[in-house]
Amino acid sequence: MTRIQECEDCGSKAEFDIRGSTQGLFCSKCDWAVLRTYIPQIDLDRTTYKLFIISGDHKNKNQVKTIARVANVNFLQARQMLLGSDEQITEGSAVAIDNARQDLSDVGLEFYTEPDFPH
Ligand SMILES: [Zn+2]
Repeated sequence: MTRIQECEDCGSKAEFDIRGSTQGLFCSKCDWAVLRTYIPQIDLDRTTYKLFIISGDHKNKNQVKTIARVANVNFLQARQMLLGSDEQITEGSAVAIDNARQDLSDVGLEFYTEPDFPH
């Protein structure tokens, strides 16, 4: 299942929200919204998760690039993170962490979350 996170009208960030009795994805800029009655558990999870890298290869450009993107740091900082151990690279909501996990898995990075990720 594809998780919609961008407004289909203007491309701005869309976020899950509950407004009165209405729940769904709302665009942060315009009136676009996708309403739904079924809410995946992950969207209701208000926990902030921390994501740590267990191991990686600082010579692997794909891994470094992925770390740079997920951690929002530059290439050199990302390499430093890969040279360390148990480096926290990001933290965020369950949905954000779920996306980050997918990106890290795609390039073969090992990681863990605190608290444990239940989704
Ligand atoms: Zn929009």
